[in-house]
Amino acid sequence: MDPLHDWRITAEPRYQPQGDEVALFEAAWAARLPVMLKGPTGCGKSRFVEHMAWKLGRPLVTVACNEDMSAADLVGRFLLEPGGTRWQDGPLTLAARHGGICYLDEVVEARQDTVVVIHALTDHRRQLPLDKKGELLRAHPDFQLVISYNPGYQSLVKDLKPSTRQRFCAFDFDYPAAAQEAAVLVAETGVAAPLAAQLIEVAHAARRLKGHGLAEGISTRLLVNAGTLIQRGVAPAAAARMAMVQPITDDADIRESLEHAIDALL
Ligand code: ADP
Repeated sequence: MDPLHDWRITAEPRYQPQGDEVALFEAAWAARLPVMLKGPTGCGKSRFVEHMAWKLGRPLVTVACNEDMSAADLVGRFLLEPGGTRWQDGPLTLAARHGGICYLDEVVEARQDTVVVIHALTDHRRQLPLDKKGELLRAHPDFQLVISYNPGYQSLVKDLKPSTRQRFCAFDFDYPAAAQEAAVLVAETGVAAPLAAQLIEVAHAARRLKGHGLAEGISTRLLVNAGTLIQRGVAPAAAARMAMVQPITDDADIRESLEHAIDALL
């Protein structure tokens, strides 16, 4: 059986390009260079890598990183079984062994001692030492590593070390321009274009507040959620409140100013 079977993408993940990122990613893939996708949450980074994996015909092994994740969670471990122990490849090892794209989502959430396991894989060596197993795995020619990273969450304790950063080509992502974001909203949810444009204006009002009491603006993902609710019969203003405003802040003043935007626009 194909060990990466579960990670193959059979249907095209719809992706609205923001610029020339598709061609640039293809160039990085051709050279098997590791790629870093930077940008705020919900702006299309994961959708982009899903689309690229589909386009390149490679399975995509996605790992949502968190601070409790250990190197073994990425690399693999011995499992105790009635007859003894059995080695089980972790997601990174699976992709490296069999030639998939491994996507480490929100990599800064992982501890530094976990992140260093990617070092030998992301330079000319393309190797993954499996110390516990006593194996030095040479990456499959079709293996590529992609990580995502939200600079907005950056802090002194949570940041990528220069020695990690400097192994990657990077793409700066941001929320799509209004016309493209409207196209995304219409394609993803089916809302009418004029309503999509109004929802996006509410999102823009919130994005202007970033750094002034809001850690992150209203993302494309939240706009899609609002559009989905509207298509299920929820009134636009209620959908915007529920999907776009209430999740992002508990601050009464910010809620009030976004409430004004909703009243004026929807
Ligand atoms: P991120 O990985 O940056 O947190 P996602 O890729 O999960 O964000 O995007 C969130 C949602 O927004 C997607 O599920 C999709 O519906 C929509 N989206 C964002 N950008 C695009 C785009 N360029 N094309 C198509 N859909 C998009």
